Amino acid sequence: MKGSPGPEQGSEAGVENTLCNSNPFGQFRYITLPGVKNEGDVASTLNILNVLDELLSAGSDRRIHYLINKGGSEALLSVLVNTGLSFCPNYTVLLPLLHLLAKVGHRDSRIGLKAEETGAVLLTLNLLKHNAKHVKMAAACLWVIQVFSSSVSAANLIGENHGLDVIFHLIPQYTTKNLHTIKAAINAFAALLCSKANVCSVISKGYISGLLQLYDDWHSKDTQHTAIEIRHMLLRCLHKVTHNNPGRQDFISQGGLRLLYHTTQTNLLMKGLESLIEPSVQLMRKCLPKTPLPLTSDQSAYTFLLPGRAHAIPDVDIAPDNSSEESDDDDAEKQQAESKDYDDDLETDLNRLCLRPDLDRPLELLPQYGHLCPELSHDFKELNLSSAPEESSPSSDEEALLLNTFSPHSTRMDRKKGDSNNELSTSSSGSQSDTDTSTKENTTAADQLETPDFLCHSSILGCRTTERELRGEAAQGLKENEQVEEQDGGEELPHCTMIDKLLKRHGACIPHHEPQLYRAVATQTKSIPGFSILPFPDFWGHVPPARHEPMVPRKPNIQREKVFEDVQRFLNTADIINQVVYDLEDSSLQCLSDSLRFFSNFECGNLRKAVHIRRYEYDLILNADANCSQHTQWFYFEVSNMVADVPYRFNVINCEKSNSQFNYGMQPVLYSVREALEGRPHWTRTGTEICYFRNHFCPAQGRRKTNFYTLTFTINFKHNEDVCYLAYHYPYTYSAMKAHLNVLQKSVDPAIVLFRQQILCSTLAGNLCPVVTITACPASRAWKDMHQLRNRPCIVLTSRVHPGESNASWVMKGTLEFLCSSDLVAQCLREAFVFKIIPMLNPDGVINGTNRCDLNSQDLNRQWCKPDPILSPTIYHTKGFLYYLNSIGRTPLVFCDYHGHSRKKNVFLYGCSVKETLWQSGSAVDTLGLKEDPGYRTIPKTLDRIAPAFSFNSCNYLVEKSRSATARVVVWREMGVLRSYTMESTYNGCDQGIYKGLQTGTRELQEMGVKFCHSLLSVTKDMKALYGRRLSNHIGLDHNILDHNTHNFFEDDEPPCVEEIEYSTNCPTLKGTDLDSDINSNIAIVDEDEDGNGIGQTGAKQHQGSIGVLQQSNMKSCLFPDSIRQASIKTLIENRNKCQGVGIVNGQITS
Ligand SMILES: [Zn+2]
Repeated sequence: MKGSPGPEQGSEAGVENTLCNSNPFGQFRYITLPGVKNEGDVASTLNILNVLDELLSAGSDRRIHYLINKGGSEALLSVLVNTGLSFCPNYTVLLPLLHLLAKVGHRDSRIGLKAEETGAVLLTLNLLKHNAKHVKMAAACLWVIQVFSSSVSAANLIGENHGLDVIFHLIPQYTTKNLHTIKAAINAFAALLCSKANVCSVISKGYISGLLQLYDDWHSKDTQHTAIEIRHMLLRCLHKVTHNNPGRQDFISQGGLRLLYHTTQTNLLMKGLESLIEPSVQLMRKCLPKTPLPLTSDQSAYTFLLPGRAHAIPDVDIAPDNSSEESDDDDAEKQQAESKDYDDDLETDLNRLCLRPDLDRPLELLPQYGHLCPELSHDFKELNLSSAPEESSPSSDEEALLLNTFSPHSTRMDRKKGDSNNELSTSSSGSQSDTDTSTKENTTAADQLETPDFLCHSSILGCRTTERELRGEAAQGLKENEQVEEQDGGEELPHCTMIDKLLKRHGACIPHHEPQLYRAVATQTKSIPGFSILPFPDFWGHVPPARHEPMVPRKPNIQREKVFEDVQRFLNTADIINQVVYDLEDSSLQCLSDSLRFFSNFECGNLRKAVHIRRYEYDLILNADANCSQHTQWFYFEVSNMVADVPYRFNVINCEKSNSQFNYGMQPVLYSVREALEGRPHWTRTGTEICYFRNHFCPAQGRRKTNFYTLTFTINFKHNEDVCYLAYHYPYTYSAMKAHLNVLQKSVDPAIVLFRQQILCSTLAGNLCPVVTITACPASRAWKDMHQLRNRPCIVLTSRVHPGESNASWVMKGTLEFLCSSDLVAQCLREAFVFKIIPMLNPDGVINGTNRCDLNSQDLNRQWCKPDPILSPTIYHTKGFLYYLNSIGRTPLVFCDYHGHSRKKNVFLYGCSVKETLWQSGSAVDTLGLKEDPGYRTIPKTLDRIAPAFSFNSCNYLVEKSRSATARVVVWREMGVLRSYTMESTYNGCDQGIYKGLQTGTRELQEMGVKFCHSLLSVTKDMKALYGRRLSNHIGLDHNILDHNTHNFFEDDEPPCVEEIEYSTNCPTLKGTDLDSDINSNIAIVDEDEDGNGIGQTGAKQHQGSIGVLQQSNMKSCLFPDSIRQASIKTLIENRNKCQGVGIVNGQITS
């Protein structure tokens, strides 16, 4: 006998051995089950089966697993084969045997293989064929077949031997009879569909249509909802047969989509049918035909000729597309691979953690950065001779040279080169007088007026709109003379004049913002398409709204509603307008008068296409990062021609991230020109019905296997014919950054603050990357003061390496304004430190509206190990500058790179710690001997106490391999900066502290920038001694005002979303169903059957309830009819004296 034959033969001995031991389970290997040849064998076999069932029922699954380990499955299988092969099988034995086999096999992952080896697979199928009419035997066989199908080859074997047909024909149209067996049949059928061959065979035999008919029939006739389980299982079969593309196509062509849509709509009206709705929705999502994005190319509309290349080269991911044959299983695998163990990514190589690599360039190249430390060379003559401010910066020549060297591209802006050089020297000479600067601005502004192609698009639209309305209602908005001017002038020049007048009348006084200066600066900004139009909000300015904006609770089942609307597109194609109303690449496009108008051909804008879908619904397609075909997430566009108070649905259909804070209370931001003109220049969080889910779109050329996600939101515009701007997050343009630096420069008293703007380098597109020095001027030119100045530690801050992370720029704005302010803490910080700030590491990306990369289609924050001087100049020179500081013994005390985080709430830091990395990775390296300064925790600890948005618990200090080329890790490892951080700010809001439940606005982001400065007080001992109590009171260090919830940062960012974002999952399981309870209720049917007349009306009725209403799993109920059970318990009791350690309590064996 297969398995483990015991030393003793004979059933009695077997039973005794099973029981007569202090640990009866230790003796399973001695169980011997004889083939059933005579009556005695029958009795003893029954007895053993009975005892086994008793034993297994008494405890947890652990006992069954023990039995399996000891060869229990093999033993049961060989009894089955021996009994089943006999000429006249003994059903008294077979039925309980099959029941037990199903129970055990269900828990044995190798049961299918074992069954194949013993020949039990086809035997069971034959038993089923012969007993198809005998419902209880049929059910038992079906369960065993279901269990065997855990092995693909067993399932294939059954499929090859017509098992699928036999079983499919056991599934009838709606009936109230034999539900139990029907259920077993559908489950077995579903289980057989684990193999690709069986799925293909089912599709080719046209069973999808059959399954749909069955589902329809049961749906329409099961009006009392007593067979929900059967309906659910039919959906499960449909899920399985649509795993591959032919299945999905057949499902669609057989009208599956329409059927599911309508049945679901009916089910939605009933109570208690939730278990049918979710699988139906998932099935529809999965089967919606893949639709290529309506684009001619997946490549960005913006291409940039890289230096040294003959033509623009698209990013390389030309893997051929196999998706037609790919099943969704592959997607699931892919996702699993993506979420691979976090700990695997940790750097455990001590050398890579501790050794400092060599310079990535010759030492001789470092002195070129000397001029970026003006505080070291400046002689501060003006401190003594208070009269003439310094005329020329000591380094301006070098900068001019730099500029010329780094501007290889001739653009339409070239004629402005003179101005640009002027501006450069203006900005670089920190002590230049205010009057001087403003004169230059005026000149530039005047130039601007003559530039016919440079207009503030939205201002014009806004004015015209206002004006048009004014013709009807004279009382509002603009004054009459403006109208006159507009009518008289006609061309662009008067518009600008009018904008100036508008500004005068309606412009808000926005701190640190000057619209005219913004416009002047923007003329210098070089973009790939050559933007000639300003986005109104950046030009006009923004002040945060007065009130906090809470996160919006997710509307229940919102995603389901949106999916239904998407399904309707396929069902009612005639209702779909499908009209392109905006195309970034086709300016000649005429749009219908009653549709919304879109526009995004401006700095940071990135709408590629807008398609009118239904009357108030638009699909929006984002432009991929320049020179690239991916990374879409950030958006910024203008919309106009709207009707007030109508719900417009917008669908951004080519988002790429697999989840989004839009599922957790975040809203996009909106800016209304009309509102701004009425004195409310606010970006506000707007939008209802927001959700983010995977959709049915695929790339236009199908070359890349990409899943797209829809961000959908609905906007009710407040005004008719307004001009509004919508964005992923509060925009912050490169021009805004430059204008802001100029405003700041003018704002400081040059006798107190040394504020110097210099040019780090020019970008690929020829934009200038500023580096700012901020520190306090020395009290005098006395040696002591000059010495103190020249020995101040450096703090290096950078931001916006990722263009889509505009939040980082707002935080930086807060930092810069604070450092230039007259605040006491700011004053102290300036006296203690020299700040070196590079506020925008990726100007070209920001300008061209990319989300992640620069024009080289590279993530610049992965280039730090060996940055290319030509292709990644900002990183190359920032690193060079840091090397330089190192080389002159001025290694920064703190380095921080500001970022935005799209999947988490709050603000937090990532730092670097060897010890924490090794601990977390479980590395065997002995960390006891390792010395590490714990000072890297000081700043985050301080921030936790003083910054309301900050969450210490979200911080970590782990060095990941995947982040080895980021600023944080490289500056830490190569420059030896202990306090090297990435600061991540949420796009959404906070889930702790006083901002809990609120979305962050620009006020909170700027505040974070201020608090970061405050926290720097904690890293200097001098500072503590000097200002200790006074300052810490000032910044609230002593008050622990916050209550931070602890949460583990290794956990997922958010709890699983209430609705599935993905749809590749299998059919959602029905709670409370399991094989054991099915088997146990089959035994109850057996009792019925024996008392009555077969499984007839009575039996079925009896068990209707137990099928319609979900049963609880109950292992304790037994395989055997009560009479047999009692008898065998009697035997056991008789044997009791011989047994030790086994007791019988209330008819159950206990050990
Ligand atoms: Zn980032």
